[in-house]
Amino acid sequence: MGRVYNFSAGPAVLPEEVLKEAAAEMLDYRGTGMSVMEMSHRSKAFEEIIQTAEQDLRDLMKIPENYKVLFLQGGASLQFAMIPMNLMKNRVADYIITGQWAKKAYQEAKIYGQANAVASSADRTFSYIPDCSDLPISENADYVYICENNTIYGTKFKTLPNTKGKPLVADVSSCFLSEPVDVTRYGVMYGGVQKNIGPAGVVIVIIREDLITEDTLPMTPTMMKYKIHADNKSLYNTPPAYGIYICGKVFQWIKAKGGLEAMKEINEKKAAILYDYLDSSSLFHGTVVKEDRSLMNVPFVTGDEAMDAEFIKAAKAAGFENLKGHRTVGGMRASIYNAMPVEGVEKLVAFMKQFEADHTK
Ligand SMILES: *Cc1c(COP(=O)(O)O)cnc(C)c1O
Repeated sequence: MGRVYNFSAGPAVLPEEVLKEAAAEMLDYRGTGMSVMEMSHRSKAFEEIIQTAEQDLRDLMKIPENYKVLFLQGGASLQFAMIPMNLMKNRVADYIITGQWAKKAYQEAKIYGQANAVASSADRTFSYIPDCSDLPISENADYVYICENNTIYGTKFKTLPNTKGKPLVADVSSCFLSEPVDVTRYGVMYGGVQKNIGPAGVVIVIIREDLITEDTLPMTPTMMKYKIHADNKSLYNTPPAYGIYICGKVFQWIKAKGGLEAMKEINEKKAAILYDYLDSSSLFHGTVVKEDRSLMNVPFVTGDEAMDAEFIKAAKAAGFENLKGHRTVGGMRASIYNAMPVEGVEKLVAFMKQFEADHTK
């Protein structure tokens, strides 16, 4: 069996070119006689891998000098704790709740201080992004937190919240490198790489230098201090070396494709193919308000659970994998990250059209 079209929300599809290159270098990485998995993280070869990866990411995102790039472990979920432990100087933070991931981060922050839910879209099952232009931001809030792209519900902040001068902290796991961003608008942005960049096990944190201090909450483990990782250039302990190596290859793949402007253009094209069909279909329809639709995660339903199940089964048999919606919401979800080719989306839509024709009169 060949490769399928993998619409998983994560771990997700990676560029085929990257996988092939990694395969070719598996036994002997560029004359070292060993694979990247087997080499010292203090070796010259690995130092070059991590430094090149960081530089390529800086180039792609135009990351200013006063921001550090950290390659860490523990997934996006460990950041739910690291953020309050490192940033809650006043022990107050404001959270905007637009889905399960924001809610989890909010609940975790409550362990460490006063976390306020200043806005939420829970009233309509997270199918929209609340108006965040004039929120009751706490006077002594250490930061304002968002999940920028809601992987499960398929919404995205098209306008960043007005934080009234407080640092913005954003979980960008599922929209990382999907389009150009203005890094200076953020205090911290971070993401688990297994959605749009690389293998699970790496989380990338981009953090403004002034937010990296010795002044963390009492009992913060050494491994959870940004300062330790920043001072040691992500090599305080053994990093997830192989994962970082693959991320580096993906950065180069994006560069070769024309960078984030090009990603945005292709992603908009792919999303339009799917959304335009959903808007015209009499069987399938999208579940979120149009103006907040994600370019990366596209949830849809037929309105009939048995029909949804039949569709998912038929799609799988035709080579379209992982279209089942998140276990908490049901229905379908097509995740169309950077590495999903346009052709994959076109073929999916053609398949959906045929399924529709066969199941409606
Ligand atoms: C997947 C995901 C997470 C959780 O990531 P882990 O690496 O499994 O901890 C957090 N936030 C968002 C937006 C996600 O999509």
